[in-house]
Amino acid sequence: DPVLAIVGRPNVGKSTLVNRILGRREAVVEDTPGVTRDRVQYTANWNGRDFTVVDTGGWERDARGIDLRVAEQAEIAVEMADAVLLVVDAIVGITSSDEAIVRMLRKAKKPVILAGNKVDDIVQEADNASLWGLGLGEPYPVSAVHGRGVADLLDKVMDTLPEFSAVAGVERTGGPRRIALIGRPNVGKSSLLNKLAGSDRVVVDNVAGTTRDPVDELIELGDRTWRFVDTAGIRRRQHMAQGADFYASLRTQTALEKAEVAVVLLAVDEILSEQDVRILQLAIESGRALVLAFNKWDLLDDERRKYLEREIEQDLAHVEWAPRVNISAKTGWHKDKLVPALDLALENWDRRIPTGRLNAFLGELVSEHPHPVRGGKQPRILFGTQASSRPPKFVLFTTGFLDPGYRRFITRRLRETFGFEGTPIEVSMRVRE
Ligand code: GDP
Repeated sequence: DPVLAIVGRPNVGKSTLVNRILGRREAVVEDTPGVTRDRVQYTANWNGRDFTVVDTGGWERDARGIDLRVAEQAEIAVEMADAVLLVVDAIVGITSSDEAIVRMLRKAKKPVILAGNKVDDIVQEADNASLWGLGLGEPYPVSAVHGRGVADLLDKVMDTLPEFSAVAGVERTGGPRRIALIGRPNVGKSSLLNKLAGSDRVVVDNVAGTTRDPVDELIELGDRTWRFVDTAGIRRRQHMAQGADFYASLRTQTALEKAEVAVVLLAVDEILSEQDVRILQLAIESGRALVLAFNKWDLLDDERRKYLEREIEQDLAHVEWAPRVNISAKTGWHKDKLVPALDLALENWDRRIPTGRLNAFLGELVSEHPHPVRGGKQPRILFGTQASSRPPKFVLFTTGFLDPGYRRFITRRLRETFGFEGTPIEVSMRVRE
């Protein structure tokens, strides 16, 4: 779902407004001094559309101590949001804290909606008008306590939020895990499907009512049901000379979009052709969990196996994090190795590292290997957070740009420390001035 962060300094009525938006009385988490408070997330709905609301602590200028932590959480929340709702107190008017928040928001470059709260009646609309001064466009007058203006505000929010979140990672839906089995023609995709499915195959039409829909298959593996997405594209033999490549890559992309994990099938009789490399690249870029399967292993003799293993080590060094299984779709050899690899990849793809643990890791790493000094300056990492899972994405808040080499070093250490086998991970940074 798209994510809306709600920010505002303390006492503007933010929590009341959050409750109003959620349409129910939600126990609002109390601030406990000395206790780290993470962002609080809720699912909200307006006019039939779901969205995620991230409530943040009050944001104060020059915050120290616990307030600083809360401010950091607010900054993180904004960074992880698709849009931001800034709440100010229309009766009090613009304060320097509000202005500081606006400066922070400008840097984040996210769409911002401004709500002037405590506008309980028409007379107070005049107070609301003064909020134009923040330079954020039209201020929406609301009364969180009475509900006045909230519907118009939410209409505006829904107009502003994208349909799909750019920041939230792949949504978790119920039902079987979704697999995209991809690979160039003749690599053995349909042979493998047949071997895995046996005779218990269930073909599912996933969107009723249209004719050209991709078809999924539900297959029982290791006592669980898995959804192989868009297998129609595999079953339907493409006898197109021209453009076949284009359609194959389109199919690959569609399947990846619907899937949680990709099984990239390669075949040992022709390893890493140009097309293999392209498909692998699509899989990596899709941000899905990834398993590499080497098919037609029955064709290998000892000499060729040695050669192949060297080649794999060299050419696939950039995806050494993906579990590898050697199989034969023809004989069924090792087909039971697929499930443990899928489980491992998905488990890591879903993972969340708690903020405290991540920052302990960062602290240790930085003290052992500080960033090199550049032009008399040494960028520092202030703190980090995992912005999303599916796949894991991390954001580091820093005092300056980190060298690409240093970022790669951090990524490598993250993998070494936390595992992450089978999932791509992303590390980005936000420079604070
Ligand atoms: P797809 O285009 O990826 O669906 O590939 P197919 O499943 O149609 O397989 C292409 C060819 O490779 C067929 O002739 C299969 O019999 C053969 N094949 C598939 N898997 C294996 C395998 O594990 N070993 C051997 N020797 N041949 C295989």
